[in-house]
Amino acid sequence: MAENVTIIGSGPAGLTAALYTARANLNPLLISGNEFGGQIALTNEVENYPGFPDGITGPELTELMKQQAEKFGARFESDHVSRVDLQTHPFVLETENGARHETNSVVIATGASPRRLGVPGEIELTGRGVSYCATCDGFFFRGKKVAVIGGGDSALQEGLFLTRFAAQVYVVHRRNQLRAQPILQARAQENPKINFVWDSVVQDIQGDGAVSALNLVHVRTGDPSQLPVEGVFVYIGHIPNTQLFVGQLDMDDEGYLKVNERLHTKIPGVFAAGEAHDHIFKQAIVSAGFGSMAAMEVEKFLADLEHSGYPTAGKIFA
Ligand code: NAP
Repeated sequence: MAENVTIIGSGPAGLTAALYTARANLNPLLISGNEFGGQIALTNEVENYPGFPDGITGPELTELMKQQAEKFGARFESDHVSRVDLQTHPFVLETENGARHETNSVVIATGASPRRLGVPGEIELTGRGVSYCATCDGFFFRGKKVAVIGGGDSALQEGLFLTRFAAQVYVVHRRNQLRAQPILQARAQENPKINFVWDSVVQDIQGDGAVSALNLVHVRTGDPSQLPVEGVFVYIGHIPNTQLFVGQLDMDDEGYLKVNERLHTKIPGVFAAGEAHDHIFKQAIVSAGFGSMAAMEVEKFLADLEHSGYPTAGKIFA
């Protein structure tokens, strides 16, 4: 029998959609992806999620959200959706572990993944000094010099975290103005372990088996320089995880799903929540809010489906 609703992704959007649809008695299935919790689970300190005045770690927040959804009957599967057929109804989802799910509605909460620099040495040295997760790998750089690439909230927040371990943290930014929020800028500027390298981009990452230096270029003068570091943490934004839906759903040039104000994609019964469509706010609390909105729309869709059948008369959102 087809599921009422299947949620793809286990970040704040997916977990909140699971909580709301579970409390609506819809017995949701959540397929979590390979890494439970999404990006927030890789964040060391979450200080701006309401209800936690002393902050909370990303993994703890994720675990609490999961427990809350489970309490009301949400089911979780640790698997990765590898193929979807949204042209038929019920929709069909197939997974890497060989499962095949039929489902009357879908919430796409697949989030986004870190953008790569795309320079020589990056792929070869990933896991050997190149990292996209300070929370996961910072510990290995005790007493060492590391670089953080980027000038946004992630770069500064994770750069500050790295000062707990590293001897020196260089923040390499392509401009001379940071994008990060003022409170993080102030903390980073006050921290004696943080040095800024302005107007510079990485040309390649050097290292024989492990990172030893970055070759940089000054964007205005073109002057090359070398920065000896043993770790490189890349925080230059994200790419939405929407490749699964290419050809079936509409997306913008960057791959963010197109939805209407009620989070409907162009296919009735398929909703998106979180960073798979949100290219503006990208906050855990916003994603959680989108998860609750999508869940409420799922409820309405399933009630209509029960009474009137699947809407074949056209798209809800074109
Ligand atoms: P972001 O805000 O998009 O910042 C990306 C940074 O990387 C920018 O400084 C950008 O430079 C730089 N960059 C982009 N492409 C680059 C390239 N090819 N080479 C070198 N530098 C490059 O991404 P984010 O910091 O990951 O943040 C994503 C979202 O999550 C934001 O909305 C942020 O507010 C939010 N966030 C919030 C918190 C918090 O509230 N504590 C923590 C983390 C993230 P330019 O500035 O020149 O464009």
